[in-house]
Amino acid sequence: MNRRALITGITGQDGAYLAAFLLEKGYEVFGLVRRSGSAEFMGERLKWLGILDQVRLLDGDLLDLGSIIRICRESQAEEIYNLAAQSFVTSSWRQPHLTGEVTALGATNMLEAMRLELPQARFYQASSSEMYGLIQQPVQDEATPFYPRSPYAVAKLYAHWVTVNYRESFGMHASCGILFNHESPLRGIEFVTRKVTDGVARIKLGLADTLRLGNLDAERDWGHTRDYVRAMWLMLQQEAPDDYVIASGRTTSVRAMARMAFEHAGLRMEDHVEVDPGLVRPAEVERLIGNPAKARARLGWEATTSVEAMISEMVDADLRRHSAARAHACA
Ligand code: NAP
Ligand code: GDP
Repeated sequence: MNRRALITGITGQDGAYLAAFLLEKGYEVFGLVRRSGSAEFMGERLKWLGILDQVRLLDGDLLDLGSIIRICRESQAEEIYNLAAQSFVTSSWRQPHLTGEVTALGATNMLEAMRLELPQARFYQASSSEMYGLIQQPVQDEATPFYPRSPYAVAKLYAHWVTVNYRESFGMHASCGILFNHESPLRGIEFVTRKVTDGVARIKLGLADTLRLGNLDAERDWGHTRDYVRAMWLMLQQEAPDDYVIASGRTTSVRAMARMAFEHAGLRMEDHVEVDPGLVRPAEVERLIGNPAKARARLGWEATTSVEAMISEMVDADLRRHSAARAHACA
């Protein structure tokens, strides 16, 4: 019989790539999806990867404990990947309560459902480098103290510690991946890499002339999502649960990343980017750079895609999307 995995957040960027990865490995993949009034757009990312009809979508909500208990029972999953969250930092200041409920308490709900229904399953929690926030060490690893700088990061810190606590309290196989920023053509349009690559594509095709950004000096350790979902799976294949930093080990400023995108399209960034002070955050995470040595040593994992290759792939994908939309509108 195939191995069974349950993914919360399967309609998001990571969920879609992870589902594709697990299907490739022969898993039966179940996904938790929220009912939506815009059902025609649900599963767009799964469709983009050509796997929508290969996954089993079960309706529920991370905030509704009863629904996720039912989903655990229906899936009989051996591996549970908790990726669902309100994941956008800026929105977490506008919706701090909701962010706390979904991103923090949602993890407790998932752990409780698993403890009651599938205590032998293995659990992955999507922790975040945002938890390092106001960095306490120049390069961050598993031993670096956390200092969250947004309601999102505070919520992720709770979810991280509650996962560690369930592991220690109940002996559950629960691991946290402290993932640094990872991107792809399926990244949400509100995140800076995708906002830039989408903006560059629009400018190149004459659909826009300017791109407004916030803090160009912020630096992030960016990698490709394809690599990062492999790390999630590797964590759950280990005999003992543990926590791992997953990062490329290289940091790039928003300015340098944007320049890569403009240059890839044959454009000059200076001709199109405007800084909008309204986009600067109330508290910023200035610089993140992770040390993935533990993941390399124990999981045999490392990032394989450079930020340059990833940004080029994203620009090309956005150019294709906008060109296709324009062709469709003209037809
Ligand atoms: P994403 O694209 O924003 O996806 C979030 C997913 O969560 C969506 O499928 C969303 O469903 C679902 N969701 C939100 N609220 C829910 C609820 N109440 N019940 C059930 N599902 C709900 O995020 P991502 O980039 O794939 O990231 C995956 C996870 O990794 C997140 O937890 C994120 O915080 C974390 N993380 C991401 C990064 C990164 O760089 N991408 C880095 C570190 C950690 P809908 O489609 O219905 O909205
Ligand atoms: P985050 O690291 O999870 O918050 O990922 P984002 O992609 O949202 O932001 C990465 C960095 O880019 C942060 O330091 C932002 O302040 C910075 N940034 C600069 N301009 C923008 C912008 O227009 N949108 C977003 N989302 N971030 C921006």
